[in-house]
Amino acid sequence: MTRVERHTYDVVVVGAGGAGLRAAIEAREQGLRTAVICKSLFGKAHTVMAEGGIAASMGNANPHDNWQVHFRDTMRGGKFLNHWRMAELHAKEAPDRVWELETWGALFDRTKDGRISQRNFGGHEYARLAHVGDRTGLELIRTLQQKIVSLQQEDHARCGDYEDRLRVFQECTVTRVLKDEETFRAEGGRGGRVAGVFGYVRESGRFFVIEAPAVVLATGGIGKSFKVTSNSWEYTGDGHALALLAGAPLINMEFVQFHPTGMVWPPSVKGILVTESVRGDGGVLRNSDGKRFMFDYIPDVFKEKYAQSEEEADGWYADPENHRRPPELLPRDEVARAINSEVKAGRGSPHGGVFLDVSTRLPAEEIKRRLPSMHHQFKELADVDITAEPMEVGPTCHYVMGGVDVDPDSAAATGVPGLFAAGEVAGGMHGSNRLGGNSLSDLLVFGRRAGLHAAEYAAELDDDRPRVSAEQVDTAAAEALRPFSVEGGEPGAPGVPAENPYALHQELQQTMNDLVGIIRRAGEMSEALHRLGSLRERSRSAGVEGHRQFNPGWHLAIDLRNMLLVSECVARAALERTESRGGHTRDDYPEMDRRWRKTNLVCELADRSGELAAVDPSAGQIRLSRRDMPPIRGDLLALFEKDELLKYLTDEELGT
Ligand code: FAD
Repeated sequence: MTRVERHTYDVVVVGAGGAGLRAAIEAREQGLRTAVICKSLFGKAHTVMAEGGIAASMGNANPHDNWQVHFRDTMRGGKFLNHWRMAELHAKEAPDRVWELETWGALFDRTKDGRISQRNFGGHEYARLAHVGDRTGLELIRTLQQKIVSLQQEDHARCGDYEDRLRVFQECTVTRVLKDEETFRAEGGRGGRVAGVFGYVRESGRFFVIEAPAVVLATGGIGKSFKVTSNSWEYTGDGHALALLAGAPLINMEFVQFHPTGMVWPPSVKGILVTESVRGDGGVLRNSDGKRFMFDYIPDVFKEKYAQSEEEADGWYADPENHRRPPELLPRDEVARAINSEVKAGRGSPHGGVFLDVSTRLPAEEIKRRLPSMHHQFKELADVDITAEPMEVGPTCHYVMGGVDVDPDSAAATGVPGLFAAGEVAGGMHGSNRLGGNSLSDLLVFGRRAGLHAAEYAAELDDDRPRVSAEQVDTAAAEALRPFSVEGGEPGAPGVPAENPYALHQELQQTMNDLVGIIRRAGEMSEALHRLGSLRERSRSAGVEGHRQFNPGWHLAIDLRNMLLVSECVARAALERTESRGGHTRDDYPEMDRRWRKTNLVCELADRSGELAAVDPSAGQIRLSRRDMPPIRGDLLALFEKDELLKYLTDEELGT
């Protein structure tokens, strides 16, 4: 039997970014014993990197803003594929979550009359992003951490133990969600209630089990499956894979957001984000001819809302009531495609991007005040002074709209009692494309909901608690240890050298970048699926040397399982959706097709036992199906003009 450290809690939250911390705070405030687990150091989650701000219709910059306008913008941004109920809850609750952050100590930038300042971002009709310079995520995490510490201090004052009801397990990786012993057997491994998690401590390699009836996944995104990405090392799709392996479906996996502006030079920093605030604060995009090219790329669905001339666009910054928005502030998918087209047409910058210029638009001191991180980032990493010269930028893989299929109100994962998901790992909220700023608000709105409902679920169980079997723990441990026993190809097969996890990861990233990237074609995606199949086979022979004490090669070998699973979901769903919509652009189906509007593509593990090895290698591990989305509620549809709805919904849906 494997030696593991054991703990028991009511709620386990996997992930300590914005969604995870907000969920943990809520579960603890409901009085439940809560554990938070994270791969990195506490406070170092990916959310820290968020720059531009958090979207909430507080109406500070423009009194016409309200939840209905925010809802409309979000649905338009997602090309009406968003789960409308999530978009509704998000728009309604985001302002409360921002106010709450302020009461917990967040120091937002202020307007001249002392209110929380709100800035412009692509796709938002009004200036709506509450911000802290261009370091908003840092302040968000700092505030949530501070709240956690204050809750721990309360517990210490009450019982002498800081960690009595809220404990953080940092630098720990979860590799499996565990199931209730009885239901696990009865339903072939894939059904059954959640019973806890299995994982390892990164530093020592020691295994641990946390038994808990409710598990909240808040693990973020999948960007590390792509070569050029703005995402941090943590984004290996773990939560997506954990959900699949536990029997929960994923939806919308074909929709991956390529942010239009990542750094393109030097190579070592390629993909690092250049915040949309640069454009929100006046920055413009130009090609190598010096042309402000975005005016040529305004799609029909947005024609009425965006300026048609430079004069009109420039007038908008000072007088938004009487001017239409600059096309640089179109939703991200539109801008990313436009940049891609300019570069392909030979009008790119020297290093394969285009120029983003704020230096001729704002005084140097103002740039340094509003965009301190960008100024620092370009000076340090590229020796470019953005107050005096343009930046070179190009698309970078940034965000996954797809994720765990959840109930909108409770964040409960479909089909797996006790499993919840919130934040980037959850699907549905953003449809086919997320608007900037809508992630930080999503984390808080649905993080809170997930924590609340996980706590309620756990509290209602009383003595009927699930139990973890020794067999499941042994299987999870054997799976994690497998890379150490690979000596030649398959474990035990002599003579064939083990595969190097780093090389496999590079090949995976290159495959996804080249064949399932920003512009997609059927033949290339079929080729990607073929290569993923072969990588999957080879990854079974991924071997590592040394021991379990901090061994990054071993960690990567384990993460590969997750990246291969989510990459297959992305490729399979992208091949199936024969249209272009939001973060899914098909060269062979360039138009948006209204008939696809209400269809979700659902990815599930093909083998119901949760075993990966047993699946026919040529067929892959993911089973794809189509599912109709619930019809949009009438009062929400009434928020749009009929003419606009006709661009997205079928006549049948509109009842015409
Ligand atoms: P994260 O913050 O990534 O947290 C994930 C957590 O899960 C981490 O603690 C990680 O350690 C943990 N974890 C992962 N796997 C495991 C595992 N197997 N075991 C244990 N723990 C695990 N959005 C906005 O709305 N506004 C912005 O201005 C903005 N700017 C951005 C700038 C950049 C550079 C980037 C990359 C993104 C930006 N985004 C922005 C997007 C936003 O930051 C993310 O979508 C959001 O932070 C995701 O938060 P999360 O809580 O879901 O996950």
